[in-house]
Amino acid sequence: MSERLKRAVITHSVQASLIEQCRARKPYESCGVLFGEVANLVVRADGFAFIRNVAVHPERSFQFDPAEWIQVGCHAQKNQRSIVGFFHSHPYGPHRPSQLDAEGQDVSASMWIADLSRQHEALHVYGFDSGSRPRPLTQEQPEAKPSKPQAQSSWYAIPLTVCAD
Ligand SMILES: [Zn+2]
Repeated sequence: MSERLKRAVITHSVQASLIEQCRARKPYESCGVLFGEVANLVVRADGFAFIRNVAVHPERSFQFDPAEWIQVGCHAQKNQRSIVGFFHSHPYGPHRPSQLDAEGQDVSASMWIADLSRQHEALHVYGFDSGSRPRPLTQEQPEAKPSKPQAQSSWYAIPLTVCAD
């Protein structure tokens, strides 16, 4: 059994900025990556980068622009930044991952969903029981085929702590 991530941490200002930029892209889903570190099964996000959503139906799904995705990966490596999660927004909810999300997701990192459907817009974090321990991604990841999750029930919620800057 792989060990589950116990907690996710983000600062108030990073969360606020991420949600604000997701909101600006409504009614479309927006997506990208989170930078930070994973230590002792705690994932800390301290920055992010948007990647253009090239999904055919961006109002209900997302797909990274392949060229931008590679660029972000290269840039991260050059700056010695680890990609610890992926985020995308659900402009009209829900806060949980959809079946479609499970099919497209690289399950080795945490998944952050910005639920913009309620008055209290918030991030929700999920991990995936894939049999391997979540790890920071490296530059090679963008070209790697994401491993296919078995079923949606394998998502588990990771408690998120929003801390002061
Ligand atoms: Zn989704």
